[in-house]
Amino acid sequence: MTDLVQTPGAPSPEPYGHSRTGLDPDSLRRGIVDHLRYSIGRPAAALRPEHYYRALALAVRDRMQDNRAASTQTSLDLGRKITCYLSAEFLMGPQLGANLLNLGIEGPAREALAELGQDIGEVLACEPEPGLGNGGLGRLAACYLDSLATLERPAIGYGIRYEFGIFDQEIRDGWQVEKTDNWLAQGNPWEIAKPDVSYLVRWGGFTEHTADGVRWVPGRVLKGVAYDTPIQGYGVRTCNVLTLWSARAVESFALEAFNTGDYYKAVEDEVTSETVTKILYPNDEPDAGKRLRLLQQYFFVSCSLQHVLHILDDLEGASLRELPERFALQLNDTHPSIGVAELMRLLVDERGLGWDEAWALTVRTFGYTNHTLLPEALETWPLAMFGESLPRHLEIVYEINRRFLDEVAARFPGDAERLRRMSLIGEDGDRSVRMAHLATVGSHAVNGVAALHSELLRHSVLADFAELWPERFSNKTNGVTPRRFVALANPGLRGLLDRTIGEGWLTDLDRLRGLEAFADDPAFQQEWQEVKRANKIRLADYVRETTGVELEPERLFDVQVKRIHEYKRQHLNVLHILTAYHRLKTTPGLEIPPRAFVFGGKAAPGYFLAKRIIKLITAVGDVVNNDPEVSPFLKVAFVPNFSVRNGQLIYPAADLSEQISTAGKEASGTGNMKFMINGALTIGTLDGANVEIREEAGPENFFLFGLTVPEVEELRRTGYRPADHVTGELAAVLDLLTDGTFGDPEVFRPLVDNLRHSDPFLVLADYASFVECQDRVDAAWRDRAGWTRMSILNAARSGKFSSDRAVAEYCDDIWNVGPVTVAGRP
Ligand SMILES: *Cc1c(COP(=O)(O)O)cnc(C)c1O
Repeated sequence: MTDLVQTPGAPSPEPYGHSRTGLDPDSLRRGIVDHLRYSIGRPAAALRPEHYYRALALAVRDRMQDNRAASTQTSLDLGRKITCYLSAEFLMGPQLGANLLNLGIEGPAREALAELGQDIGEVLACEPEPGLGNGGLGRLAACYLDSLATLERPAIGYGIRYEFGIFDQEIRDGWQVEKTDNWLAQGNPWEIAKPDVSYLVRWGGFTEHTADGVRWVPGRVLKGVAYDTPIQGYGVRTCNVLTLWSARAVESFALEAFNTGDYYKAVEDEVTSETVTKILYPNDEPDAGKRLRLLQQYFFVSCSLQHVLHILDDLEGASLRELPERFALQLNDTHPSIGVAELMRLLVDERGLGWDEAWALTVRTFGYTNHTLLPEALETWPLAMFGESLPRHLEIVYEINRRFLDEVAARFPGDAERLRRMSLIGEDGDRSVRMAHLATVGSHAVNGVAALHSELLRHSVLADFAELWPERFSNKTNGVTPRRFVALANPGLRGLLDRTIGEGWLTDLDRLRGLEAFADDPAFQQEWQEVKRANKIRLADYVRETTGVELEPERLFDVQVKRIHEYKRQHLNVLHILTAYHRLKTTPGLEIPPRAFVFGGKAAPGYFLAKRIIKLITAVGDVVNNDPEVSPFLKVAFVPNFSVRNGQLIYPAADLSEQISTAGKEASGTGNMKFMINGALTIGTLDGANVEIREEAGPENFFLFGLTVPEVEELRRTGYRPADHVTGELAAVLDLLTDGTFGDPEVFRPLVDNLRHSDPFLVLADYASFVECQDRVDAAWRDRAGWTRMSILNAARSGKFSSDRAVAEYCDDIWNVGPVTVAGRP
C-alpha cells in the first residue's frame, strides 16, 4: 500500500493496510519496521526490546495522531466547548498498554511483535513510568483524561513537563532512600514537542500605572514550550491532548517588548530558566522550594491561559466575550488557582476589557475542585513573597478582595469577624494570600470529591462561602478508569466478566450489577477464586523478586498501598500486626488464619515520622517473616517504589483493602475504589468515599470500625488523652516497640512518644475497635464461600466508582459540555 497524502484533519482515506494508520497486524508490523529504520536507526543486529518498544510506541502514536487530527477538525468545525483540566500533576502510568487497549489493537500488536520475534510482555516492560504526580490527585487527573476522551468530550489537560518526576524509592536497611526519576533519559515517544507553541511568562519586577493603563515591568522573563501527548478514548475516534509546558530561556530579542527593569537578570542563562520545570515537589514537604513552587504554578497556568485565548482568537467569529461558552477551566485543587488573577490580568491589562465584564467572564469560566481539609495542606503564600514574585497579581488580588468584601459587607452588615474570616488575605500572624479563597471567589462551581468531604467543606473550611453562595457548591465523588484498573490490570477478571455479563461493562460499569446473580453460584465462585489466586501468585512473584519475601497465595492478602502519612495511619495497621504477633507469642497453640500484610507507598523526603513508619513496617517484617512460630500466620512485605505500574499488580491481588484514615481526614481516596472494583473487601472508617463504598456494597459486605467525624470532633473538644487507651494488649504492644524486639528502640521512640503523648490522628483511640474488626475479618475469611460471595458483591456494586460516572457529572453540572462524535473508524 502506498502512503497516501493526507491533509491534517481529513479522515484517513484508506486506513486499512496503511503503515501509519492501519489497525491490522500487518500494517502495524510495517509501521514498527518503518520506525525501527527511519526513527530509531539502529542496525538490525543491535535491536533490543527497548527499541521495539519505541518503534511500537511511535507506530501507536501515529494512529492516535490520525484520530487527533480528526478530533481537532471536528471540534473546530462544530465550534464545541472544550474542557481544560488544569493540574500541577498528571500521574499517567505507562502509556503503551492503555493506548493499545483504547485503540482496540492489543491482539494485532501482539501478533505484529511476534512476527518480529518479540514478546509483547517484554516490550511493555521497557516503558519508564512518567511519575508526574505524588499520588491520588495526579492519578485522578489521569483517570479523568481517559474518561473525557472515552465519553467523546473535547478536552485539553494542561500541566507541567517535569524533567524529574516523583523520586524513585529504594529500601536500604529498611529505610527509604530517594533516587532521582530520570524518566526522559531514553526519550519519550509519546510526546510531540511544539516549539512554535510557546509563550512568554513574566516574573518579579514592578508595575507602573500611567494614563494608558498598567504596565508590568518584569524582573525576569522565561518561555514555556508545549509538549503534546495524545489521549485516546476507548472504542471511539476521539483523541484529546495533554499539553505539558517546559521552561526555556528567552532569546534576548523577545525581551524588547517588555523593557525589563534589569536586562542582564532577565536574560539569565538557560540553567536558571530551565530549573522552573526541573522537578516535581513532593507533598507534605515543609517549605521546600516555596518560591520556585509558586513560579511553577504561575508558569504553567499563564502558558495555558495564553494558549486558550490564542485558540479563541483563531476560532471563526468567536470573541473574548464567548470565553465561557467555548471553554471550561477546571482547577484541580488550588495549585492552578493563580489562574483566576492571571485571567483577569490577561483580559483587563492585555485585552482591554473592563473589570466587571472580565470578572463575569472569569467566574463563569472557572470551576474549582477542593481536595483537602487538612489545614497544613491549604495553600497560602506569604504576602511579601507573593508581591515580589507577582506584583501585578497582588494588585489584582487586592482589587478582587476589595469588591468581594464589599459584597459580603452588604449581605452581612456589621460583621467584621466574617470579613476577616473570608478575606483573600489572611491577617493572622504573617499576612498571606489564601489560594482556596481566591479559587472559590473566582469560580462559578466549587466541589468536593466525596459526599462526606463536600459536606464537611460546606460546614467547615468554606462554610462562610457556602452560606453566601449555596448554589455554587456541589459534590463530585471521585472515580477511577476501569480501562486501566480492570481491563489492563486484571486480564483474568476482564475475561471472566466478558464471558459472564458481556463486554459492555468496560464503558458502562453499572453493568457489573449483572454479577449479583452469580454471587452464590458455586461454579462461578470457583472461577472468581481462580482469578484472584492467579493475581496473588503474580503479585507474590513480584514481591519475591523485589523484597525476597515469600507470600503464599493461600494467605489472606491484606493490603495498604498509598502515600505514607500519619493521617492514613499505616502505624495503626502495624499495631494490629503486632497484636497478632503478641497473641501468637503468648498463647501456645493459637491458630489464626494466615495473612500476608502488604504495604507500599512513598514518604515525603523531609517527613520525619512517615519515614520512621516505613522503617517500622520493614523492621516488623524482618522479625515476623523469620520467626518460625509466627511466619506461618503472619508475613509482612513492603513493596518498594509504589507506582501506577506496580499498583496494577497490587490492587487485583488484594483480598482486604485497608482504608483506615482518621474520620474527616481523607477527602475521598481512589485506591479504595480500585480495590473494590477488583473484588477486595474493605476494612475502613467512615471517611471519604468509604462511606459511599459501604453504602453501595451494603453494610454487611464492609468491615466498619472506628470513630465517626462527630465522635472525633467530640473527643477533640472534650480533650483527648491518648494515655487513657494504653491498657491491656495495647500497652503490651507498644512496649514491644521499645524493648528491642524489633531492633534499636531509639528508632521507634519518636513514633511511640508521639502516639502516647499527642497522637494527633487518634490512632490509640481507634485501636481497640480496629483490632476487634480485624477479628471479624478473620472469622469471615474462615468461611471461604461467604467471603467469595462478599467479594463478588463488592465488585458487582462498584459501578458508581467509574471515572466515567464522575466525569459525566462534571460535564453535566459544571462544564456544560456534551459529546462530539468524531466520524470515521474508531
Ligand atoms: C490510586 C493511587 C493513589 C491514591 O491512593 P489512595 O489510597 O486513594 O491514597 C496513589 N498512588 C498511586 C500510584 C495510585 O495509583
